[in-house]
Amino acid sequence: MPWCDGLEPICRTDAPLAPLTWYGLGGAARWLVTPRDEPELAEALRRVVDAKLPWRVLGRGANVLVRDEGFDGVVIRLDGPAWEHVAFSDTIVTAAAGADFPKLVKRSVERGLAGLERLAGIPGTVGGIVRMNAGGKYGNVADVVDSVRVLNTSGVIKPRPIDDIPFGYRTSGLHDCVITAATFRLQRADVDPLRERFQQIWKEKHAAQEPVSTRSAGCIFKNPPQKPAGKLLDELGLKGERRGGATISARHANFIVATPDARAQDVIDLIQHAKDRVQRETGIALELEIDIW
Ligand SMILES: Cc1cc2nc3c(=O)[nH]c(=O)nc-3n(C[C@H](O)[C@H](O)[C@H](O)COP(=O)(O)OP(=O)(O)OC[C@H]3O[C@@H](n4cnc5c(N)ncnc54)[C@H](O)[C@@H]3O)c2cc1C
Repeated sequence: MPWCDGLEPICRTDAPLAPLTWYGLGGAARWLVTPRDEPELAEALRRVVDAKLPWRVLGRGANVLVRDEGFDGVVIRLDGPAWEHVAFSDTIVTAAAGADFPKLVKRSVERGLAGLERLAGIPGTVGGIVRMNAGGKYGNVADVVDSVRVLNTSGVIKPRPIDDIPFGYRTSGLHDCVITAATFRLQRADVDPLRERFQQIWKEKHAAQEPVSTRSAGCIFKNPPQKPAGKLLDELGLKGERRGGATISARHANFIVATPDARAQDVIDLIQHAKDRVQRETGIALELEIDIW
């Protein structure tokens, strides 16, 4: 295919996506592109857009379920040293989009920089976390973002200040672009109490949810205004419900966990079943939080 001529070192065909996602399920990407830096990313995206191919960006895949038939398009993954760069300057930290977010949270806490500890225990890359405006009961990443560096489909890379980003509940509004880095504005704090708060938030999260080591994608549905989705599903007795290798978690009903031999379709069937039950019995239309590719 001419679109990737010359990009062979960073472009693979029929690349399995399961090992690149938290669920560990699903088929292959027709193309997997791993640009080594911003210019390579810009060049690859320009060609993908010119060739009118469908494309997605993949972080740690902690919020993505890939269908069994795979993704018939281009998956871009920001992997490698240039995408893991993190720079601290006083209370400002800038991290490239592929940097591991939980590690960044820990590093900030150990430096006595407060702000990110509210997101303790949320897996993902900096890019994925910002794109999803990840968060929980103690706040969202938008609370500490200063600016985001973005490559758009016209090939322009520019910083977008926080005021120019339409953050909302589990969305940044940054669609159709690639986040290449983010800058966070943190606050000085004493390390010991900060570390304690980080640990307390982490423990609280892990007592209430599936451990990070399980195959899941975090919460399946967004919380509707009426009631948390997990509570709705629990009240309808859906905990423990199964389809093939997929089960609604007994710990948190908004999590669907999978066995290694599950099919992505098992998870999709269970999602549909849960959604139908909630719609039928409460009239509430649940919306997906996860992305299904
Ligand atoms: C055990 C567990 C617990 C979780 N707990 C929480 C929680 O408490 N709160 C919460 O909000 N989420 C939670 N999640 C979901 C997940 O951690 C977040 O959604 C996180 O933001 C995903 O980051 P990622 O890098 O894995 O992104 P991916 O899952 O790879 O991608 C998510 C979305 O972001 C896009 N994306 C990724 N990188 C980029 C980029 N560089 N530029 C543009 N778009 C990009 C993808 O295309 C996709 O649309 C949990 C998940 C698990 C498995």
